Amino acid sequence: MRVLMLALVMLFLPVLAQASSCELSIDSTDQMRFSAAELTVPSGCETVNLTLTHSGNLPKAAMGHNWVLVETDQLSALAVDSIAAGPANNYVPSDDDRVLAATDLIGGGESTSIEFSVAELKGKDLSFFCSFPGHSALMKGKFIVE
Ligand code: ZN
Repeated sequence: MRVLMLALVMLFLPVLAQASSCELSIDSTDQMRFSAAELTVPSGCETVNLTLTHSGNLPKAAMGHNWVLVETDQLSALAVDSIAAGPANNYVPSDDDRVLAATDLIGGGESTSIEFSVAELKGKDLSFFCSFPGHSALMKGKFIVE
């Protein structure tokens, strides 16, 4: 009987792992770095709940970080326009179709979360970056939707 139960659990575990909402997390630092150069969304996720943390101590005005998702070939242009958007907009242009997802801007010791759909993102060449002025050269990575 115990073997049978175990077999059933093994059978259903993959189903449980494919929950419709999936969690991702990434840290950022006073050294102007993200903790990961690549984030992968497993297949089966309809939405992603992403948490950005800032494990440093510097305030938002000096070392602010956010997490912005963009198609890779639009990253450079969006990074320039994000600086122009200014601190009042958390360095993210409003009503801009290139912004696929974006968190709030946070400072040391803070964290923020967003939830977004990945249904339309599968198979696209995507990148994430921090849009704080001067950060995107170091603070960027690949975002893969399996
Ligand atoms: Zn940053």
